[in-house]
Amino acid sequence: MSYLNKKTIEDIDVNGKRVLVRCDFNVPLADGVITDDKRIRESVPTIKYLVEHGAAVVLCSHLGRPKDEESKKKCTLAPVAKRLSELMGREVKFTTDIIGEKAHAMASGLKPGEIMVIENVRFYKEETKNDPEFAKSLASLADIFVNDAFGTAHRAHASTAGVADYLPAVCGYLIQKEISIMGNALANPKRPFVAILGGAKVSDKIGVITNLLDKVDTLIVGGAMAYTFNAARGKKIGDSKFEADKVDLAKEILAKAESKGVKFLLPVDNVAADEFDVNANTKVFEGNIDDGWMGLDIGPKTRQMFAEAVADAGTVIWNGPMGVFEMAPFANGTIVVAKAIAESNAVSIIGGGDSAAAVEQLGFADKMTHISTGGGASLEFLEGLELPGIACLNDK
Ligand code: AMP
Repeated sequence: MSYLNKKTIEDIDVNGKRVLVRCDFNVPLADGVITDDKRIRESVPTIKYLVEHGAAVVLCSHLGRPKDEESKKKCTLAPVAKRLSELMGREVKFTTDIIGEKAHAMASGLKPGEIMVIENVRFYKEETKNDPEFAKSLASLADIFVNDAFGTAHRAHASTAGVADYLPAVCGYLIQKEISIMGNALANPKRPFVAILGGAKVSDKIGVITNLLDKVDTLIVGGAMAYTFNAARGKKIGDSKFEADKVDLAKEILAKAESKGVKFLLPVDNVAADEFDVNANTKVFEGNIDDGWMGLDIGPKTRQMFAEAVADAGTVIWNGPMGVFEMAPFANGTIVVAKAIAESNAVSIIGGGDSAAAVEQLGFADKMTHISTGGGASLEFLEGLELPGIACLNDK
């Protein structure tokens, strides 16, 4: 699946047009206060380009999972509009309406360069059902649709894909960057191409592993996932977390990697604990792990082996922590891998979610080529699946 040919905001004339932009304003809030405005800041370049090129801009997004009237109060986009106005240094109008008369009146009254935000699209259950009438009504707020919400691009919702049935549709800068960096890495990687996968379950990442096995030179697996593979290799894994029903699949994947000549690196030593607790007793096991102990991080030899594989890579894609990085005694594997990627000259791509958070917490964010803005969406992109929010956009 290649999206390298999708039209962007720079490929169309937006002057004098009304443009509906699907943003990712799904920011964390505490008592109505935005605790991290990163997603709003990241949306600014696309909005800026549009207003500077004479468009009137209608912004929409979801925020949280509003279910009832009470939870809707906590999921209003009002604070987002206010913060965006501060960041843009100009007025940003807000309406509590979405597809009703008020929203339409405000949208049709917008002059070039003016910006408005409509309320959380998920206040309508029709949004996630991709209801065609709802999508049509949203679309009638504007002349052009721009999708810039990568985090929801793997969902076929009304505001992420449905509206594209009624309007010319292109991508904003955020989606363009995701497509071009991840798309080029998959289609034409600088070699050696190394993928590092970690996290809790093999079952969540089978699709990614299978797709990447056709493309990478080296596949590195850490985290709890690695114990299912080590069990498949006949190693003792003690009480480590693993998926018994995925051992046969893990064997097949290892055999496939071998037949394709892909180097498959798994932990050769592990930091294990006698209980799942930050204060547990810990012990490093080489090879087999004794019963009564669970592997919670990769060991020192493995860290070095993984870091060496990354050091001379041309392209690195990383998704998922190497251990229980939320607990300091088991965070070292994840830290060493993050550092090795940051220090390498490789094109470095960090999947969203835990690995992105780890890289940011550790202060390595500006050393990476790209940190994806979508966890689930980046995984599906790496799986080679169709992303409805991108597939619906017009080709050049
Ligand atoms: P995922 O959402 O699949 O990327 O998984 C991330 C989670 O996997 C994190 O919360 C980690 O704490 C957890 N994890 C990583 N390694 C291990 C391990 N060895 N044992 C248990 N949990 C782990």
